[in-house]
This record gives sequence, C-alpha cells and structure tokens, in this order.
Amino acid sequence: MIDLKQYEIWFVTGSQHLYGPETLLQVAEHSKEIAAALNGCSEIPVKVVFKPVVKTSDEILALCLEANNAHQCIGLITWMHTFSPAKMWIAGLTHLKKPLVHLHTQYNSEIPWSEMDMDFMNLNQSAHGDREYGFIGSRLRLERKVVVGHWKDPEVQASLGVWARVAAGWADWQGAKLARFGDNMRNVAVTEGDKVEAQIKFGYTVHAYGVGELVKYVNEASDAQIKKLVQTYQDEYDVAPALLPGGKAHQSLIESARIEIGMRTFLEAGEFKAFTTNFEDLYGLVQLPGLAVQRLMRDGYGFGAEGDWKTSALVRAMKVMGAGLPKGMSFMEDYTYHFHPSGDKILGAHMLEVSESIASSKPRIDVLPLSIGGKADPVRAIFDSKTGPAVAASIMDMGDRFRMVVNVVDVVPTDHPLPKLPVARALWLPRPNLKVAAAAWIYAGGAHHTSFSLDLTAEHMQDFADMAGIELLMIDENTRLTEFKKEIHWNEAYYHMRGNR
Ligand code: MN
Repeated sequence: MIDLKQYEIWFVTGSQHLYGPETLLQVAEHSKEIAAALNGCSEIPVKVVFKPVVKTSDEILALCLEANNAHQCIGLITWMHTFSPAKMWIAGLTHLKKPLVHLHTQYNSEIPWSEMDMDFMNLNQSAHGDREYGFIGSRLRLERKVVVGHWKDPEVQASLGVWARVAAGWADWQGAKLARFGDNMRNVAVTEGDKVEAQIKFGYTVHAYGVGELVKYVNEASDAQIKKLVQTYQDEYDVAPALLPGGKAHQSLIESARIEIGMRTFLEAGEFKAFTTNFEDLYGLVQLPGLAVQRLMRDGYGFGAEGDWKTSALVRAMKVMGAGLPKGMSFMEDYTYHFHPSGDKILGAHMLEVSESIASSKPRIDVLPLSIGGKADPVRAIFDSKTGPAVAASIMDMGDRFRMVVNVVDVVPTDHPLPKLPVARALWLPRPNLKVAAAAWIYAGGAHHTSFSLDLTAEHMQDFADMAGIELLMIDENTRLTEFKKEIHWNEAYYHMRGNR
C-alpha cells in the first residue's frame, strides 16, 4: 500500500557563470556523481534525481516552479559546490512549496596537501558558498534542514534518509482523505480540533460518515469472502479453539471477518488513507471493530479511536515515514503505570486497537468481553510488543496553533507474563524518567492517544514538525522540567508574534 520508490528528491547544485564553462562542467560531473551515490545508498528509500546545475536567477526560479508542479518530487536537496550569489535564489525560494534540505558538503573529502593550487580552491568552495546560500534561507525565514559532512559519510546519508522519509510522509498527507465513522467520543476534549485549519496547515481532509454507511458495506460482504478471510486468520494467527469452525464462538470470528471486509472495501472505494471509529456509535455493527482495525493498521492505514482524527492522520504519516523498516508502529494509549524502584514504567495499549506490526511473535486471536460499549464481545489479536527505542507523538489543537509533543522512550519486555490481559500491549521506560516525562507531557497538554513507532527517532519527528511548520516540544534524555516549562512559555510568545502562517 505504501511505495516510497514512487517518490523523487531532486539534487540541485548552485553555481554561477563567473567560473567559465570548464569549471561548470566539472561542477556538473561532481554533482552527478554525488546524486548517483545518494540514489544508490540504502539509507535513502526514495529516488535521488540529478538536476542540471543552476547558474542564474531565472534557472533557479524555473526549477523551483517545476518542482512545485512535479507530483513525484517531494523535496529538494540543495548544495553550492562553488559560490552562488544568493540574491539569485530569492525568486526561486520564495516560490518553492516543496520541502528543502541544505546539504553542506564538499566534493573532496580531504585537502590534497602537496597538490593543492588555486584551481582546486576555486572549485571546492562550498565552505563559503554554502554560507552565502544559508544566509538567504535564514533571511527568508525558510524552514529547512541543514545536514553537514562529506557526502560519503554514513551519518550524512542517514540524516538525508531521515529527511527523505519525512518528506514522503508529508507528501502523502497532501490531498489525503480521512474517513471518520461517527463523531467524537462525547465530552472528550483533546481529540477535537479545527479541521479547516488542519486542511490549511497539513493538507489532508476529514470526511464524516454515519456508521450506517459503513454497515451497508459490512452487510454486503459475501460468504465466499468471509470464508476466505476466516481461513487467512487461521493461517496467520494462533486462533483460540472456541473461534475455530465448530467452536462455540465461531460466529464471532465470522462477524469479525465481515466487519474487516466491509471496512476495507469502504476505505478502498473512497481512497481513504486513515480512519477513526467511536465505540459510542456502533449502530448496526455487532462488535466494536478490533481485529479489523489491527489488520488495517498493519497494512498501512492510519487509525484513531474515539473519533481522534488528528492521531489517525499522524499514524498514517508515521506509517509512510517508517515504510519498509523492520519494527513497526501503532496507534497507542498510555494505559496504566508500574511504579517500581527499578524504574517507573508505562504500559501502553488500547481497548483493542494496537497494530500487529509491532508484535514480537505470532499474535493470538481471541474473543473476550469489552465491558464498555454494550455490544457483542469483540475479536482481537493479543501480543507483546517488540522492544527497543521508540517515539510516542501526538498533535493537539491549542486554539491558536497545532502543537506536537514527542517522548523518546525505551520499550522493554514485560516484567512478568500477562496471562489475563486480553489486549495487545507495549511496556516502556520514558526518557528521561517517568516523573519528568509525564509531568512535561502534561504541562505540554499532550494527548492520551499517541502515534507510537519503534522505527522512527526524535530526528524524524523534528524534521516532520519543521516541514509542517508547527511547534514541537521534545521530551528526551536531556529534558529538565524547569527549562521545559520556560520553553512552553517562550513558545507562547514566539508563536503569538510569528502568527500562524
Ligand atoms: Mn482511547
């Protein structure tokens, strides 16, 4: 469902006519070589396309306008091999609508001490050429990423790879459609927000549907489709005996399959990338969708429970950003705490809807009571999460702007098995520790729902917030509450002065 190879980033080198055709030819050859190396490196999952060296204001403007109109182009890597007087960049950069990264590199890695002459110096000028270019970016107040180092340096390639993944997530949001089955859970505050502002700022649209419209699709699932999907469940999971054909709860598995087929057909027909449900609004559905949501998330759909459209959109973006990476990501909720001298932990889960992409082993499928919602017992996949570093992120509407809060955490194995817990879960130590992290999260107004990834890092989320042009409050190993509270206050002033655009 998510194919990053459909996307291109354009490798753009700036220069000027001053140096004469011979030098410019050399600049172009070097740029081609760098673009090819970046295109071939495993860290960058999209195509890197060389573009002819730009030498005048008109060429730069034309290239930026071409990038705006090229659907497959998700951003520009820019680099000044030589000096490129930056007034030439004003027209282009003020029109550019695609994400921008400034690669501050140099063709040669080392100084050729015994050979170096003035010709070499005139060719390898990025140390000052890139500073002139950097000035105009700052003078224009452009959001962009600056990556510094030799182009063969694995850290440089990794950092460009992070940015490329984020640019893909951002491109995917533009024009994306989210389906909302029912409205918001009654009285819940943080899941609300300004959908018009979200469309202006983020580019996606949110479409509400009565649950009855989904039910129509669910009821149209054929017996043959259901039979096939029930067989898939048996092939892919460890299915509880009662759910198997002939078991006393087999009908529940059939209903679960019917719901999945209906949802999938609905989402495909409307070309939606994400969706929300609401357990308060299930009229005509026999169970709250559990397994269906888990499997749709696994397959790349964004999801938010209780009408949480902002989190469903973020889950989708983070799915795209992490496409092809090994550990997975999910909709998540901080559920319950484990206060203990060995380190205070958070157990994350939801009523049902945790993506099986983070499962550490083959999930178990069972049907168990939900105890809220007043519907038939829902079928769900139950598993423990993979472990390792992760990020939990949420976006809130603060009234005058969107704010993203991110906590860097470490997912660990559960202290003991959880034989009676009927939902999928992850257990983690938040950085720097629970006391600081949870206090900071609460001061920041962070939501109880998060988009949770074991593949993405603080750098991805920083790049994403920058690309979206929204506030980011990062909670990590360096967070100190006194400083964090000041940052919140200073941000209030900054965003008030800056305005929302
Ligand atoms: Mn919830």
